[in-house]
Amino acid sequence: MKKIVIYDIDSKIPNLALMKISAYYKKRGYDVKITRDIRYIRADNYFGSSVFHNERSNLKISALLDLFGSDIQMGGSGCSLKTRLPDEIDACFPDYELYNHKKYAIGFLTRGCNKSCRFCLVPRKEGRLNSQYATFDDFVPKNQRNIMLLDNNILSSDNATEILELIIKKEYFVNFSQTLDIDYLTSNNAGLLKNIKSVNSRFTKPMIYFSCNTLRQSKIFFRKEQHLKSFGRNVVTVIIMFGFNTKLSEDYAILMMAKKLGLIPFVQEFMPVLDTTSQIPEDYFDMDLDLVAAIKFRTNGQNNEKFLRYVNKLYFQKFDKYYLPLLKAIYRYNNKLAINKYLRKPNLISQKQYA
Ligand code: SF4
Repeated sequence: MKKIVIYDIDSKIPNLALMKISAYYKKRGYDVKITRDIRYIRADNYFGSSVFHNERSNLKISALLDLFGSDIQMGGSGCSLKTRLPDEIDACFPDYELYNHKKYAIGFLTRGCNKSCRFCLVPRKEGRLNSQYATFDDFVPKNQRNIMLLDNNILSSDNATEILELIIKKEYFVNFSQTLDIDYLTSNNAGLLKNIKSVNSRFTKPMIYFSCNTLRQSKIFFRKEQHLKSFGRNVVTVIIMFGFNTKLSEDYAILMMAKKLGLIPFVQEFMPVLDTTSQIPEDYFDMDLDLVAAIKFRTNGQNNEKFLRYVNKLYFQKFDKYYLPLLKAIYRYNNKLAINKYLRKPNLISQKQYA
């Protein structure tokens, strides 16, 4: 029996492209093996996928290329923005058995995006929005009602209304994993979204996701406050990206927007993509740092501390010191004793801002 081996380098959820490759080859009688271990396995064809562009994944890609040279076909955003699945593979119904995955279906209805945010690889990788990319029948198994949508800008699609109406009709539980674009939130689609069972990525509780990456967008959140409120309390999460090109005052204003509107903030640092790195301004520190240290997030979760750690890191890079109120804020709720490792080095601690 012919065999293919698939190397999944770094996927955090079942990798859709790999499940399609698996389906394609199984249909042709191949034995398909998937592994995360980078080691030689004898087979007829080799495939690898990397989603993230970081040191760890890059090392694994190099190791695979050392093992197989041109015999392995590599893909995914961590490897190349140009590689695409051949149409006959892309059209396959995903083989969920590859990951023994039953919890939810994964797929795209639309592909691409018509915007061109500088930090984002989607327009370069996928091109302009294709609103007719696929239907639910192309990736949802019979009797599956949990759907993780990977669409990057579904509300901007010209058939968004039809899609939302169909989700309501099918009574699907949907996780909008790539978030919804506040720019395209209207009274019409807000009314429809309200009737959709929108859930978190574990499919355990109601949650609807938007993202806010710029100060401009944060103002739109204020303008659309009533639509956001209509979804209910504690069900709107705003994914806030920091670490690309914003100054501290902009990061702060975005966080304050989430606080004032009662949204749940989920902060995440910009992750470099293949041809784009962060462009943090030289004059990043442009506001009263005590206001930042005084931010009280809705929850004591460690996610929020990520932002404070990032500010702390930049502060140390610029001033060769740690600012005490910021350290206290980082260790306010979690891992409290860890602050001592700083306090033991008083020469590295500053009690005065920007000094
Ligand atoms: S709107 Fe979203 S998907 Fe489109 S370019 Fe911007 S970040 Fe990327």
